[in-house]
Amino acid sequence: MRTYSLALLPLAGCVFAGLFGDGPVYTVLPDQSQIEEAVEAAVNIRDVPNNVDYRCGPKIGKCPIDTCCSAAGFCGTSKAHCRSPDCKIDYGHCDAYKSPYGPPTKDIVRPHIGQIPYGPKEIRSCAIPGTIALTFDDGPTRYTGDLLDLLDKYDAKATFFITGINNGKGQIDDFSLPWASLIERMQSSGHQIASHTWSHEDLSKITPSQRRDQLEKNEAALRNIIGSFPTYMRPPYSSCAPDTDCGVDVGKLGYHIVMYDIDTDDYKNDSPELIQRSKDIFDHAVYAGDPHTKSWLVIAHDAHEQTVHNLTEHMLKTMKRLGYHGITVGDCLRDPRPLWYRKDTRMPTHKKKPKKTASADPNKPISFDGSCGSNYTCMGSTFGYCCGSTSSCGNTTTYCGTGCQKDAGYCAVEAPSNGDAWDPKVHTKGKKSEADGSSRTIGTAAVISLFLALIVATWIG
Ligand SMILES: [Zn+2]
Repeated sequence: MRTYSLALLPLAGCVFAGLFGDGPVYTVLPDQSQIEEAVEAAVNIRDVPNNVDYRCGPKIGKCPIDTCCSAAGFCGTSKAHCRSPDCKIDYGHCDAYKSPYGPPTKDIVRPHIGQIPYGPKEIRSCAIPGTIALTFDDGPTRYTGDLLDLLDKYDAKATFFITGINNGKGQIDDFSLPWASLIERMQSSGHQIASHTWSHEDLSKITPSQRRDQLEKNEAALRNIIGSFPTYMRPPYSSCAPDTDCGVDVGKLGYHIVMYDIDTDDYKNDSPELIQRSKDIFDHAVYAGDPHTKSWLVIAHDAHEQTVHNLTEHMLKTMKRLGYHGITVGDCLRDPRPLWYRKDTRMPTHKKKPKKTASADPNKPISFDGSCGSNYTCMGSTFGYCCGSTSSCGNTTTYCGTGCQKDAGYCAVEAPSNGDAWDPKVHTKGKKSEADGSSRTIGTAAVISLFLALIVATWIG
C-alpha cells in the first residue's frame, strides 16, 4: 500500500493545483497535510474492491459506500446485512439511514402541555385503579392483525410502541406493505399509537443527533399515515441512560417516556413450551394485587408469535376474571386524548397516498375466497396477507414463513432476537443476525467436506 501511496503523490498534487490554483498550474501548492489527506482518500477508494474480506466494525472500519455492515461484521447489501437494528449503524449503510417521505418534523413546536411529566422523567405505572395498560413494542408485524382481532374480541384497548423500519420489514409508510393499514386500524379502533423509534437503535449507545434522527424519522413516517405523531415513546431495550443525557434529549423533543411495572419477558419465551413462564409472571403480579386499588402497566411485543397467539388471550382472560379493564397508557394516566399526539398539518396530500391495498403483483386480483398463487394475491385480502405453501392466505408463520409465495402476497420478516426489558446479556453479548458470515462459512465448509467425502467413498467403492 505504501508503494501505491507514493505513486499517487504527484497525481494528488495535480488535483489540488487544479482545485486551488487560479493562476498558472502548480503555482499554488497545498500543504503536506492536504496532500496526505488526498492520498489517503484515493487509496481508500482504490482499496475497496480489493478488500476481499469486506469486514467492518470497530478497529476494522467502514464498508464501501452504500453497503451495509452486518451484526457479524461483514459488508453486504442483502436484507440480512442491512436490517436494523442488527446492522452496525456507524460502519456502513443500514436501513436506519432510509427516510420517510414528506417534510421533516424538526420545526414543529413541542410544548410540554398537560399534567403528565415529560423526559427525562420515566413513567412506570398507571394511575387508575382497576385498569391494566397492555403495551406492545416493535410492531407492526405479521402478527399485529391477529392481535387487533383479539383486542376487539375482549373489548380491550392497548398501546402500540411502533418501530418504523426494524427487522427488515420495510418502512411503515410504504403503502405497498401491510403496516400502514394496521396502524390506521389501531387508530380507528381506539388504541394508542406511540413511538418506539425509527430503527430500534439503543439510544444510550448513539450520538444525540442520531437519537434525534431516530425519533424525528418515526414522527414523519407516522405523520404520513395518521396525520400526527405521538407524544409518548418507549426507548428500545428500555435503554436511555442518564449519563448520556438521553432522557433530557427525548424530553426536549416533547416526549413522555413510558416504562412498565410488569415485564412479561415474552421475547425470551417465544415457544409453546416456554410461554407459560410469561403467563406465570403476569398472573403472579396481578393476582397479588386488589383490582379496587391496583393498576398495572405491562410490556409485551407483537413481534413474537406466542405473545399474540397465546400469551395475550391469557392476559385478557385473567383481566376479565379479576375485573380489570384494558385501557391505553394515555387513559390510564388520565391524559386527555388530544395531548397524545402532535398534528402536522403540512401534509394536505395525506389523502393522496398510494392505494393501501397495493398487491405484490399489481396485475393480480385480490383473493376473494382465501386462495392464492398464480391467479390471486393475498395482499389486501381479508384472509391474511401472506400466501402460504398450500396456496391459501393467512397471517401466521404457516403462511408467512417457509414456503410463503412472494409473488402472491407478503412474506415474513425475521422476528427480533431480543426485547425491550433491560437485559444485561443483550447489552454485553451483542446481537445475533442471520448475516453471520462466520457461521455461514463454517456451514459451507461442512457441506463441501461432506460432498468430497461422498465422491471419495463412491470412487473407492
Ligand atoms: Zn423494542
